[in-house]
Amino acid sequence: MSKDFPGRSKARHGTDAGFQAHKRYGSVVCADCREAHNKACRELMRKIYDPAKRRARYLASKQAAARG
Ligand SMILES: [Zn+2]
Repeated sequence: MSKDFPGRSKARHGTDAGFQAHKRYGSVVCADCREAHNKACRELMRKIYDPAKRRARYLASKQAAARG
């Protein structure tokens, strides 16, 4: 099995871009790419998922709803 992606993809294995390339070409995601993608997802979630802010938004929307 080739370690390179077909076509013009410059994606490398072991990166989130590599993971996307696997998906685009319909190939089985290799362990390196899966790990990189999982890591990228975790970092993204950490960036956008702040429990305190989420709670504040929830309470604000609840108050807005209560106000009618
Ligand atoms: Zn890969």
